[in-house]
Amino acid sequence: MVLVRTRCDTLPAMPVRLSDSLGRVTAEPVYAVADYPLYDVAAMDGFALSACDTAEASPRAPIVLPLALPAFAGAPPAAWRAGGAVPISTGARLPSGCDTVIPRERTRTDGGRLIVAEPQPSDRNVRRRGEDALAGEKVLEAATVITPAAIGALASYGLADLSVRALPRIALFATGDELIVGTGNPTGGGIFDANTPMVAALLARAGFAPVTYPVARDTPTQLHDHIAAAAEGDAAQIIISTGGVSVGDRDHVGEVLRAHGATCHFHGVSMRPGKPVLFATLPNGSIYFGLPGNPVAALVGARFFVLEAIHTMLGLPPEAGIHIASPVAAHPTATLFLKVRVDYRDGLPIVDILDGQQSHRMRPLLTANAWLVVAPAGADARLFPLDGTF
Ligand code: AMP
Ligand code: MG
Repeated sequence: MVLVRTRCDTLPAMPVRLSDSLGRVTAEPVYAVADYPLYDVAAMDGFALSACDTAEASPRAPIVLPLALPAFAGAPPAAWRAGGAVPISTGARLPSGCDTVIPRERTRTDGGRLIVAEPQPSDRNVRRRGEDALAGEKVLEAATVITPAAIGALASYGLADLSVRALPRIALFATGDELIVGTGNPTGGGIFDANTPMVAALLARAGFAPVTYPVARDTPTQLHDHIAAAAEGDAAQIIISTGGVSVGDRDHVGEVLRAHGATCHFHGVSMRPGKPVLFATLPNGSIYFGLPGNPVAALVGARFFVLEAIHTMLGLPPEAGIHIASPVAAHPTATLFLKVRVDYRDGLPIVDILDGQQSHRMRPLLTANAWLVVAPAGADARLFPLDGTF
């Protein structure tokens, strides 16, 4: 993974409307434009007054405060005179001179007068200007993923636009003479193409929109044409293929990349599934992931290598996972990626290693909700969310 990170450049910054920023990653720190709250306002429906006017109040000798005209949210601040009270709604500006609000349900009125039977503390039920954020204050760091809640907070602080990382352009295609496209009946040694829709969906869920190409047959010419199409013009910054990276006679991806002048960073990783995975850089700077054809291996490659590359390009730190004591024996040399289901019993996670761990077995993926990644020859095991959304 470290090798992947060192070969990925950070994408440029671009402006987006706040309302379009869900899932995007901030390119710079974000500063509040306005104080929030913008004014001192009432936090309850009730009566605004000056606490010191009630200092002498007691049940035997209540204080009677004449009521001014009411203050409503969105209206200019209401006028208040010392020794009086202002009926006020939640969110209305606190009249100048008032420092507390008595909630309506705790008061008694008599015609146009408020009866107060005990001294009132100051600063109750009042939201002070700027108590949540001050204009010019840093409210978010760079490299933060924008969530719905963050959109709400930034809108409160008067932001309309944000500077975020551009999204990577991604090209995706599957290879294989045996791949059937569409829903027709398989003939001969066919297999339906699972990888194109699956990897496209993984990327879509993480917020990216890959351009998918038709299946490439196992000929150097077709592979060459797909790679050339993805790398030309408005080139994809990430090109992903599945299949054709093993050692079979029809596995041409490696040689076609070399013919393209690509620099291969690795071809083969000590992991299961996903061993044949290839990572290269094309002469134009596009990075290339040759994922294995077996769908589980392709999914692991996309989930852990491609998403890691995208994280790096967006300026995000590596994903750490959740450390757990491994429920399975480590492999002496390979990292294991296991399909697991995590359920909680009495608040504690129970990790079920699902049946069917082979790299062609899709069925356990229908119940899995996490990957258990077991490092070789050690007790280090970590859980990662299945789809790696962030
Ligand atoms: P390969 O990596 O090309 O040697 O393929 C390994 C295995 O994965 C073979 O059994 C292929 O039939 C299968 N396979 C390759 N590509 C796909 C795909 N797009 N969808 C489903 N299975 C595939
Ligand atoms: Mg193949």
